Amino acid sequence: MQELTHFIGGRHVKGTSGRSAEVFNPATGEVEKRTPLASVEELGAAVANAKQAQPAWAAVNPQRRARVMMKFVELLHRDMDKLAEALSREHGKTLPDAKGDIVRGLEVAEFCFGAPHHLKGEYTGNAGPGIDMYSIRQPLGVVAGITPFNFPAMIPMWKFCPAIVAGNAFILKPSERDPSVPLMLAELMMEAGLPAGILNVVNGDKEAVDAILDHPDIMAVGFVGSTPIAEHVYSRGCAAGKRVQCFGGAKNHMIIMPDADMDQAVDALIGAGYGAAGERCMAISVAVPVGEKTADALVERLVPRVEALKIAPYTAGDDVDMGPLVTAAARDRVVGLVDSGVAQGAELAVDGRGFSMQGYEDGFFVGGCLFDKVTTEMDIYKQEIFGPVLSVVRSKDYSDALDLTMKNPYGNGTAIFTRDGDAARDFCDRVNVGMVGVNVPIPVPLAYYTFGGWKASGFGDLNQHGPDGFRFYTRTKTVTSRWPSGVKEGANFSIPTMG
Ligand code: NAD
Repeated sequence: MQELTHFIGGRHVKGTSGRSAEVFNPATGEVEKRTPLASVEELGAAVANAKQAQPAWAAVNPQRRARVMMKFVELLHRDMDKLAEALSREHGKTLPDAKGDIVRGLEVAEFCFGAPHHLKGEYTGNAGPGIDMYSIRQPLGVVAGITPFNFPAMIPMWKFCPAIVAGNAFILKPSERDPSVPLMLAELMMEAGLPAGILNVVNGDKEAVDAILDHPDIMAVGFVGSTPIAEHVYSRGCAAGKRVQCFGGAKNHMIIMPDADMDQAVDALIGAGYGAAGERCMAISVAVPVGEKTADALVERLVPRVEALKIAPYTAGDDVDMGPLVTAAARDRVVGLVDSGVAQGAELAVDGRGFSMQGYEDGFFVGGCLFDKVTTEMDIYKQEIFGPVLSVVRSKDYSDALDLTMKNPYGNGTAIFTRDGDAARDFCDRVNVGMVGVNVPIPVPLAYYTFGGWKASGFGDLNQHGPDGFRFYTRTKTVTSRWPSGVKEGANFSIPTMG
């Protein structure tokens, strides 16, 4: 049994709280590691360390800070296989998917190579007589990121790369379910030349999160996780006077118009519904075929594909479609929701509840499930299932499908599959969801755009990565200066205007 640590002040530090959590290999169901759960005092010690280290880091010129990111990216490539193996072992996703998790974070590190440009301010010479005006972006000081289990490489990097390259010191509180990769990322940042104390990993649960939210020296908190916790973090962090952005859960709808290429739509639904066993905030969990004929054709094609999903541990090879769920509790919750769907009258076209794998009977596997004729009152529609379960909600026409998507409380991602440019254009314009795909099922924006949902999927007004990553982790200072006549003209009692 491996005992994990925190990573504070540039080195591994043992937990002292006396509390810890089990870390499983979801494919075998075995506990392989224990992670410490930080106390308020341990979090406080990490913050004190970060606060001391931050001013010197902020004084390093942005080009040099960007070079640390360049070296970090090189090291991520060097250690890709090792990182992916560690990630799959704790999360359960396939190795190619684990590499995707790392690469989508690495791309944000690459975007941060441009920090000297992204941090540039504005300047107006002669804004008034003898007056120049300029704005600069400055780091906030010590900032934090609280991240979920489902992307243990990508989401920590979305947070700490822009924050650190902008000159902040960072406290990362990763998910206690798969903390190994975040610790490995911190080691790599040190190897890349980051000074000690600038990236700290504090493992923990609610106690550590609440300590972050209450700590007066933490200036900003970026959170990703489920909506109830996002609401808690947002309200408690804001009440403490911090800058807070929180990204929550999702229920992503994909509309299939009668003119869509049905093979393409089915391929998209299989990948987006069942990839990573549905444990993605951008997974498609609701398919909305328009018209009965479209619905019948879609379900007929989906059934054999869901039945044929190759489900196995990550060690079985690169052609595995999906692995187990992250914990036994996650598996039991998903199975419970499938039971409720049956009880509430949905048609279970494919039942994956009995799935078991020889040699891995204790793993947290659930087979792919497909529901047809789901209605909005059912729990399987109302709740984020976060498992390999796709619900088909039949709609009578386009406006009914759009209405359904708009009325859903979540607004993370959505997609429309059609050959009709007019319908696609109307959908992009009107839908109240943050990320939209046209014949693309998982429209995760690239690193140089920003990522964020609307409604119950996002709280706060700036998105993750892209230009917003820099905006969130810096603050603007605007300077108005007058040289050299100074105050010799005397006091001015009216508000200054430049006109
Ligand atoms: P979670 O909400 O259980 O945990 C997220 C983080 O909050 C973890 O670090 C956890 O330790 C902490 N936490 C858990 N319970 C807490 C509590 N009571 N008080 C304070 N902190 C607490 O989420 P998860 O299960 O790790 O991740 C899955 C969820 O994340 C899904 O809902 C998914 O949709 C969402 N997600 C959203 C996005 C997005 O960008 N919108 C991206 C990925 C995942």
